Amino acid sequence: MTLDMNELVSLCKRRGFIFQSSEIYGGINSCWDYGPLGVELKNNIKRLWWNAMVNREDIEGIDASILMHPKVWEASGHVAGFTDPLVDCKKCKHRFRPDQLTEKKCPDCSGELTEMRQFNLMFKTFMGPIEDESSIVYLRPETAQGIYVNFLNVQTTLRHKIPFGIAQIGKAFRNEITPGNFIFRTREFEQMEMQYFVKPGSDEQYFDHWKEERLKWHKSLGLNPKKLQFHEHTKGELAHYAKKAFDVQYEFPFGWQEIEGIHNRTDFDLSRHQQYSGKSLQYFDEATKEKYTPYVIETSVGCDRTLLACLIDAYHEEEAKDEKRSVLRFHPKLAPIKVAFFPLIKNAGLQELTHKLQEMVRPFYLTRYDEAASIGRRYRRQDEIGTPLCVTVDFDSLKDEAVTVRDRDSMKQDRVNMTQLMEFLRKKLEA
Ligand code: ATP
Repeated sequence: MTLDMNELVSLCKRRGFIFQSSEIYGGINSCWDYGPLGVELKNNIKRLWWNAMVNREDIEGIDASILMHPKVWEASGHVAGFTDPLVDCKKCKHRFRPDQLTEKKCPDCSGELTEMRQFNLMFKTFMGPIEDESSIVYLRPETAQGIYVNFLNVQTTLRHKIPFGIAQIGKAFRNEITPGNFIFRTREFEQMEMQYFVKPGSDEQYFDHWKEERLKWHKSLGLNPKKLQFHEHTKGELAHYAKKAFDVQYEFPFGWQEIEGIHNRTDFDLSRHQQYSGKSLQYFDEATKEKYTPYVIETSVGCDRTLLACLIDAYHEEEAKDEKRSVLRFHPKLAPIKVAFFPLIKNAGLQELTHKLQEMVRPFYLTRYDEAASIGRRYRRQDEIGTPLCVTVDFDSLKDEAVTVRDRDSMKQDRVNMTQLMEFLRKKLEA
C-alpha cells in the first residue's frame, strides 16, 4: 500500500494531531501546529530520545537560548556559507532550487528562469529597538552551536573526562526555498542533537559506534527496519565542517529521505570559536598532561521528520469484519493515548464504575473516556488515533467484577478481573 499523503494530512487534522498554522487566516506556508494528540506523540519521541541519549554517565543535557551572539554564526561558517542556490521564474515569480529541477524552464508555467544566485537560509531579526547592522541577530539554524560554546562550561562544572557528550532538544529555523511534504521540510522545526567530544585519532571509532547506535534507536521506535537505511555523503554532499557523514534515511511515500545526520565535524567548530572569541576551548587531560582541541561526532535528528516517519509507518487501512478500518499501529510507547475507557451504554452504574477504573489507571498512563456512539464506532475512533487498549464496562461487570479489554492490533478481547486490570494493562503496554 502506498500511502496518499493527503489522506494522512487529513487524518492528522480530523483527529487532532496536526493543524495548519493560522488556519483561520488562510494558513501560512509550511508552518504547522501540533494539536492535543500530536503534542503527546512528539513528547513521547522526545522523551525516548532523551532517555536514550542523556540517561547515561557520559552525556549531559542542556537547553541553550535560540538567540546567540551574532559572531557565533560568523565563526560557524553560517553567515558566509549556509546557502542554497536559488532561481526565480521571470513570469510567475515562483522560486526553486535549481539542483531540484529537471528542466531549464519553470516547472509551474514553463517561464524563463533567472540566473542562479546563493540565498542564505538564516532568519535575521533585530535585537532591541534600533534596526541597524549592529543589532542584527539570527534565529539559530541548528542547535549544535549552543553546545559548542558551552563545551567548557559543561566539561569543567560536571568534571567530565573525554570522551563525553552534550545533548539538547530545541527549535531551529531555516528559510528553506522549497519547504513541503507536510512536516518533512518546514522553516521552523525541532532538532534533537548530541555532540560527542573525543580525542583526535579516536574519532573514526566513535563515528562508527554512534552511527550504529542511532540506527538501533530508530528501529526501537518500531519503524519497519526495511524502510531504514544509511546513505553516505559523497565528497560533493559533505557540509563545510564534515570529514565524514552518514544519513539515516527512511523510505517516505515521496522517496528515501534523511531523518538523521551523523557527522564527523572534526575540531572545526571548536577551533573556529577559539579563533573568533579569542578564548581557549582546549581540553586538558590530567592523566597524560596533554592539551588538545577535541574532535566532535554529531548525531542530529529532526523531531518532526521522525514523527512523520512514525505516522506513515503506523498507518494502515484494513478490512475488519465487513467494514474498512484505518488504524495507527504505533508502538505502545509512542501512542498518544494508552488506554480508552467505555461504559457499554450511558447508564449511571456503568458510568460510575468506568470513571473509577479510569482514575485508577490515570496516574500511570494517559487515558480517554468515551461514551458516545456504539462500541464498534468507539473502537474505530481509538484505532484511528492508535490507542493500543480499550476497556469496556458492561452489566456483567457489576456482578462478576470483570471488564473486557480489547487489543488494537489483533482486535482480540480478553475478560479481565478488575483487581488484575492494572497488571494486565502494564504487561500489554510494556511487552
Ligand atoms: P536536508 O538535506 O533535508 O535539507 P540537512 O542535511 O540540511 O537536511 P541537517 O543540517 O543534517 O539537515 O539537520 C539534521 C536534521 O534536522 C535532519 O536530518 C532533519 O531531520 C532535520 N531538518 C533539517 N532541516 C529541516 C527542515 N527544514 N524541516 C524539518 N526538519 C529538518
